[in-house]
Amino acid sequence: MEEAANRAGNVVVIGGGVAGSLLAKSLQFDSNLVLIDPKEYFDIPWTDLRSMVEPTFAEKTLIKHSEYLSNGTIINSRAIDITATEVLTEEGRAVPYDYLVVATGHDEPLPRNKTDRIGQFKQDYEKIKSSSSILIIGGGPTGVELAGEIATDFPDKKVTLVHKGERLIEFIGLKASTKALKWLKSKKVEVLLGQTVDLDSVSESSREFKTSAGTTVSADCYFVCIGKPLSSDWLSNTILKDSLDEHGRVKVDDKFRVRGQDKIFAIGDITDVKELKQGYLAHAHATLVAKNIKLLMKGEKESGLSPYKPSAAMAIVSLGRKSAVAQFPFMTVSGRFPGMIKSKDLFVGRTRKTMGVDP
Ligand SMILES: Cc1cc2nc3c(=O)[nH]c(=O)nc-3n(C[C@H](O)[C@H](O)[C@H](O)COP(=O)(O)OP(=O)(O)OC[C@H]3O[C@@H](n4cnc5c(N)ncnc54)[C@H](O)[C@@H]3O)c2cc1C
Repeated sequence: MEEAANRAGNVVVIGGGVAGSLLAKSLQFDSNLVLIDPKEYFDIPWTDLRSMVEPTFAEKTLIKHSEYLSNGTIINSRAIDITATEVLTEEGRAVPYDYLVVATGHDEPLPRNKTDRIGQFKQDYEKIKSSSSILIIGGGPTGVELAGEIATDFPDKKVTLVHKGERLIEFIGLKASTKALKWLKSKKVEVLLGQTVDLDSVSESSREFKTSAGTTVSADCYFVCIGKPLSSDWLSNTILKDSLDEHGRVKVDDKFRVRGQDKIFAIGDITDVKELKQGYLAHAHATLVAKNIKLLMKGEKESGLSPYKPSAAMAIVSLGRKSAVAQFPFMTVSGRFPGMIKSKDLFVGRTRKTMGVDP
């Protein structure tokens, strides 16, 4: 077994998020697999807003890497450099690779262990529960889904959402924005568009928040939901520095190989693939690259590898526990139907099944 694995080669995956965790799971019995991630768990990102109003939900949404990786090495550290043969970690390890997959998506300083992450959700919950009025800064999917969760579970709280854009959830179409706005207003969420709150001027003790339009919002607490930055800055000091586009995305070919590199792949939100950045697509990237790396390790030629075709735009933004707004390729719908697809369990059951862990 050991010998067979050694012959198969060293595959290193950087980032244990949606894309990296599935890729690592898929290759663990075909290679010497190493997963590098600062956390001991995979956090299903779109479930975090539910966990803020129901912290016990996080028991199922934070999946320890050790639960799905029985035949790989997990290194809980941050990757800080890539050379032609090794990945260097913050803790000073040099990890050799034959094939490398970069799946560092978005960056957020999260606790290293699951218990502390659940502790964070409990703190958020207490903050929400003890406040009469709540300000949400940012009207992308995170801000809108958080407003939906609070308005549903705590209908008596006064929720105000301030968004700098002229419409909510700008990553999808105008119809979806309009439907989300209508739903939030029906739940008495006050939405202030085209305005910002200067984050440098606020602190945990702030109770009054002035917007760029001169409006004063009174709130007992606030949450910043302005989107997490891509985790690609660190790549600009590595051999991949010339493979980043102007937005910091990694340029890849149709097999997710980093342009100019033979043995290095990138998958998930970090890539410059022209499609919506969605977890189900990150899963599709992982599945395809796992298949191609297995073929390469068996000596397959370039012509034998499968190419990827970007998908048409499809996204669902949940609005509380029962409703959602969904943009499909040919229509946008809101209400209970898209809510049935996403909002009840937020794809937790499906994700756990894909990762091969108990439901
Ligand atoms: C509110 C919200 C709702 C969403 N709803 C949906 C939905 O309904 N359906 C859907 O399909 N998608 C949804 N998405 C999108 C989805 O979350 C992303 O597309 C997906 O998380 C991308 O996966 P990824 O693996 O590329 O990156 P991520 O999931 O961001 O994972 C990146 C991983 O890399 C690690 N990392 C970062 N830097 C380093 C480093 N230097 N070294 C080592 N590790 C590192 C991080 O710790 C993390 O584990 C939603 C997103 C948001 C914000």
